[in-house]
Amino acid sequence: MTKPKIVILGAGYGGIITSKRLEKLLKDGEADITLINKHDYHYITTQLHKIGVGTAADRQFAISIPDLVDSNKTRFIKGAVSTVDIQNQLVHLDGGDTIEYDYLVTALGFEVETFGIPGIKENALAIRSFRSSKAIYHHITKQLNLYKEDQDPSRLTFVVAGGGFTGIEMLGELAEGLPNLCRQHNIPFEKVKIIAVEAAQSVIPFFPKQSIKYATETLEKFNVELMTSKKILECTPEKLLLESDLEIPARTIIWSCGVKANSIVEKFGLPLEKGKIPVDSYLRVKNITNVFSVGDCSLFMKDEKSYLPPTAQVALQQAPVCAQNIVSTLRGNELKVFEYHHKGSVASIGNFAAVGLVGRFRLSGLFGAFMKQVIEARYLFNLGGPALILKQHFRIDRDPV
Ligand code: FAD
Ligand code: NAD
Repeated sequence: MTKPKIVILGAGYGGIITSKRLEKLLKDGEADITLINKHDYHYITTQLHKIGVGTAADRQFAISIPDLVDSNKTRFIKGAVSTVDIQNQLVHLDGGDTIEYDYLVTALGFEVETFGIPGIKENALAIRSFRSSKAIYHHITKQLNLYKEDQDPSRLTFVVAGGGFTGIEMLGELAEGLPNLCRQHNIPFEKVKIIAVEAAQSVIPFFPKQSIKYATETLEKFNVELMTSKKILECTPEKLLLESDLEIPARTIIWSCGVKANSIVEKFGLPLEKGKIPVDSYLRVKNITNVFSVGDCSLFMKDEKSYLPPTAQVALQQAPVCAQNIVSTLRGNELKVFEYHHKGSVASIGNFAAVGLVGRFRLSGLFGAFMKQVIEARYLFNLGGPALILKQHFRIDRDPV
């Protein structure tokens, strides 16, 4: 008898943890697991701002997928999904290969939301993937080199668009990392401008007032110029155009104004809501019992009106339930209802400051920064035990890009 084929698309937080949990839950020979990802490394998205400024080694946040999965249980395919044929239970990859499935998990993550603002897609940089973040680093160093030739001050103006969590994490990293990059390039850091542009009245507008105050003061201490209540209207290669006819001459615009589901899911012929794949309480695509979806590309309703946000925390809680429900389906057992437990949020502002909210407790300063490190280390520990933490921090090997 042929074994059921479980195929997981995407090896980000949701996909890699689903596959690892399936490895544990399935008995020998019970099913085949195939994990498909564009690249052969899993990147730590929550730390991509560090890759963007070059404040961390690539190997710390890009981990070989073949090293993470058990090759006796999971077949890893490095390939880009081009579409899925739900009727015939096939996954199509770029280059023409097709993979059959009996059970499918879509975990294809997010992409940057540009809201159709002119010039963003073409001229702004995105903290989307390991590669896009590495591109930010290369762009910054290129501007530093070009400044030495033409002395154009717009080359030393670094703008972060959007003051949500991604924005403040990037601003903190720029403030801490640029002095060093300037030293390496023989450029006086005093000439550098770091600017935050946010449409709302403050950065992290969705957080408590005291946390907003702390984040604002911390960024100001870093000499970040905060332009709040300023909506971005257009971006060209040389400047950013804002409401009220304001312009910022700058060659580096780092766009962090929000995310949406990976638009590839639009090709799957599945019903979509808000551009995402709606799932039921068992994480199955509505009305399709053999297709599951987790993480940022899915829409899970918390209640009738609100849905879960696109966070690693959600993807990481969904993945084990998804794996368990696939195994239960195979065995004819009852499925588990997914229940989300919010454990809090912590965002870093450089290495020594952070803002967070855990239950009703507000975190800030060094303690917040320490907690952020603990959360990151805990993820690595869950992924590969203490050995992985040591390996990521001490191994020297080739860059994945
Ligand atoms: P992803 O992690 O995006 O994984 C998707 C995977 O699919 C990737 O490996 C990608 O390469 C692969 N893929 C995409 N397209 C294809 C294709 N066509 N074919 C094959 N493979 C493909 N959330 C938190 O909870 N806490 C944080 O501290 C936090 N910090 C963040 C910091 C930054 C800078 C950013 C940008 C986001 C942060 N988030 C955080 C949000 C979090 O990173 C996402 O919610 C999370 O990555 C979603 O996980 P996922 O598995 O759905 O998708
Ligand atoms: P976001 O949607 O949370 O924030 C985007 C910000 O950009 C908002 O403050 C918005 O007002 C602003 N904005 C939107 N359009 C604008 C415009 N035209 N001009 C100026 N400002 C504009 O997006 P994000 O920060 O990228 O976060 C995406 C997801 O990832 C969220 O769910 C977030 O919680 C998660 N995340 C979590 C962490 C963490 O927990 N440490 C870190 C990063 C991201």
